[in-house]
Amino acid sequence: SSPEQHTDVAIIGAGPVGLFAIFECGMLRMKCHVIDALDVIGGQCAALYPEKPIYDIPGYPSIDAADLIERLNEQTAPFSPVYHLGQQVVSLSRAEGDRWLVETSAGTRINAKAVIVAAGVGAFGPNRPPLDGLEQYEGKSVHYLVRRRLDYAGKRVVIAGGGDSAVDWANSLAEVAAKIMVVHRRAKFRAAPESVARLEQLTKEGKVEMVVPYQLAGLEGTDGTLTGVRVATLDGDEKVLDADVLLPFFGLAMNLGPIADWGLNLERHHIKIEQSTCATSLPGIFAIGDIATYPGKLKLILSGFAEAAAAAYSAFPLVHPGEVLHFEYSTTKGVPGAAE
Ligand code: FAD
Repeated sequence: SSPEQHTDVAIIGAGPVGLFAIFECGMLRMKCHVIDALDVIGGQCAALYPEKPIYDIPGYPSIDAADLIERLNEQTAPFSPVYHLGQQVVSLSRAEGDRWLVETSAGTRINAKAVIVAAGVGAFGPNRPPLDGLEQYEGKSVHYLVRRRLDYAGKRVVIAGGGDSAVDWANSLAEVAAKIMVVHRRAKFRAAPESVARLEQLTKEGKVEMVVPYQLAGLEGTDGTLTGVRVATLDGDEKVLDADVLLPFFGLAMNLGPIADWGLNLERHHIKIEQSTCATSLPGIFAIGDIATYPGKLKLILSGFAEAAAAAYSAFPLVHPGEVLHFEYSTTKGVPGAAE
């Protein structure tokens, strides 16, 4: 196996929260290696909604998810993090001297004084609808995320689902697509009220067609090119919607994957932490962001940012034992390379 690479902190997950942890660790003179299963940084922001604006990042009235990741990348760059992308962390085990050994699917071995798990929802993947022959269409005319809105220009798009993603994308793609059809098994949508109101307005204007209460029943087409989506009511009444694309938004399948086997104290697919320190049940292992839970946890990027700061302060004594850590503001300390 490959030689061990030594570092202060190994961060598992390069989503927004893992990225900000690099900054917080850097400010406390702790070097980081960061591992992510995806081949890009940014986690859910990059993989699921790069072009969607986020409205609750302090200081940014609105920022597209991809831009937030770009800014975080800029903010962490002075601390020269070492990235290991496109590889999943498969094992976490105790190493000599109270250190931890992180091993990846690509055989990378990282020996660290502390580990921060910022693994989001784990190895995440979309919930796929159970339709015959689905595989041949996936990636060609069935997509679980929208990378570029313009790919849908002039297309007849069927959107399935009743949550935020379905409603938001119906509203957004209605501006470019030839036709939007929303398939949902009931008339009520579980999404932000303003977004639902917008969807109703677009329906009245004839830009969106509501196909309720229907469920997906089948796909029609050849060689991955869709011509129609078959839908059915619970009573079995079927019809075919002429369409070029199907976007099923049935949420993410939570799969902690190997993380479930590391001996951490879990609660319903999340890692239980002590909120003030982000400590897990294992010494030297901290968890932050969507994967971490405690009473009252809000799954928001901004909570994750605060947890990143807490985890860095908690890891400090493991990385710099015996040193007294005085709390300082970033303005006092300055960031390496930042303008004076
Ligand atoms: P993630 O972004 O999930 O990143 C975790 C990373 O860890 C992933 O890249 C994954 O590949 C990696 N990983 C997991 N397991 C392993 C492993 N074993 N080995 C290697 N890598 C691993 N939040 C807001 O605050 N405001 C919003 O407006 C908002 N809008 C949203 C809209 C949508 C459509 C969605 C889906 C989410 C939205 N969120 C929003 C939620 C927000 O995106 C998450 O809270 C945030 O991404 C959590 O960040 P994270 O870094 O904890 O995890």
